[in-house]
Order: sequence, then C-alpha cells, then structure tokens
Amino acid sequence: MTQRIFAANWKMHLGPQGTRAFMDTFLDMYAPLDDREVWFFPSAVALGTAVAAVQGTTGIVVGAQNVHWEAQGAFTGELSIPMAREAGATAALVGHSERRHVFGETDEETGSKVRALLDAGLTPMLCVGEKIEQREAGETLAVVERQLSVLGQYDRQALGRVVIAYEPVWAIGTGKTATPTDAAEVHAFIRQWLTKHGADRKTIRVLYGGSVKPVNIRSLMAEPEIDGVLVGGASLEPESWTAIAQTPLD
Ligand code: PEP
Repeated sequence: MTQRIFAANWKMHLGPQGTRAFMDTFLDMYAPLDDREVWFFPSAVALGTAVAAVQGTTGIVVGAQNVHWEAQGAFTGELSIPMAREAGATAALVGHSERRHVFGETDEETGSKVRALLDAGLTPMLCVGEKIEQREAGETLAVVERQLSVLGQYDRQALGRVVIAYEPVWAIGTGKTATPTDAAEVHAFIRQWLTKHGADRKTIRVLYGGSVKPVNIRSLMAEPEIDGVLVGGASLEPESWTAIAQTPLD
C-alpha cells in the first residue's frame, strides 16, 4: 500500500512567526510513522520558514497553496513554480475550491498549473469536488469527471505523480462532512477514471477534504478508498493537527 497523506492547508493564516511557533509545538509532539507522510501548505511568505523548521525530520512535505504556470513575468501578486521551489516547496495545491469559486480559476488554468508543476518536477495535488446544488442535481460524478479531464493527456508515469483531493465544496469550512460511504463512492469513481486513463492502481492516492476533525478522522481513514485527508480549519492548532496526523490506522 502507498503511504497515506495527512495534509494541512493553512489558507490565509499563519505568517512566518506563526509558522515557526506552530512548528516548534508540533515537532515536539510529532513522531514520524512509516505508513504516512504529513504535508503542509503554508502561506507563500512562510514557505521558507516551514521548510527550515522541518529540515532533518522525516516524512514531511512542504508545498505551495497556489502557483502560476509561467516561470516568470508581469503577473503581479503571483508565485512562480521556480520561486516556490527555491523556497523549498516540492508540491503545490491546484484547483482548490476557493481558487475555483472565489477567484474564478478555470479548468484550463488548472490544467496549465498541473502541466507546469509536472514539467518542473513538483507534485500537483489536484482538488476536485462538487457544489451543493450540483450534488442535489445528481451531477457530482459529472463535475468531478470534468475537473479530472485536465489529466487526460498524461501517461502512467506522470499520472503516478499526481495526488487527488476530493473536497465536496459544501463540506469545506462548514462543519458538514461527507459520510465515509458518500466519499468512498466518489473516491472509487476517481480511482476508476485514473485507471482507465492509464494510471497504475498502486500509485493512486485520493485524499478526502471537508471539515475533517479529530472526532471524525478515524471513521474516514477506516474507509479503504480514502488514502488520506486534506484539512483546513483543524490543521491550524498544533494539538488538533497532531491528533489528526497521528491517528492510528486500523
Ligand atoms: C480545505 O481548505 O481544503 C478544507 C478542507 O478546509 P476545512 O477542513 O476547514 O473544511
């Protein structure tokens, strides 16, 4: 089995000082485990701080929350992949629902980011998921399939380098979680889609995200379709994040 991934998305929280304080507390409690990796997506200005803090600790990955697909240029306010890499990032979120629905990021832009990350040797974590009205209209799988289609052009090796995070938009930051069974249905669909497009089943990693907390992490991770979690709110406190990231796997 591939290693599970417990990923923290700090969104627009924790600058360098907050990141340093978080890591000091977290690393005191953290014990690396062979069956998992712990990933952090800090703010762009805190990437270097996070990378420096975890240096020498095994099983930790630091990534950017967002990148531009161009390597440089007149793109005020954007973070390029070479800059993220220079700061020590080895991965990046792509297509998070806040990028899609607050900032209007399109599938085409999402696809360009995936391509640029793969070309640069960084790991894209592609987020997919439906809005509540799409779920209620029975469109969940069609929406997810459309969002996955940016991966349609890649071969087995490239697909093996992409991590997928299924995050139903209605579950993000709302306290509502998909049941493990509902999530598993979409995860199975994603796995099937990736396999049909040439991915090796053994390398596929599909995470669940949406109001994951210490109280529901065990039931989610008990579902064999769920290879890990992407966590927003509950990853901001070292105690609750450690409780999630150190959850024993049955
Ligand atoms: C997220 O930001 O990706 C997320 C899942 O947030 P939350 O855990 O707060 O729902």
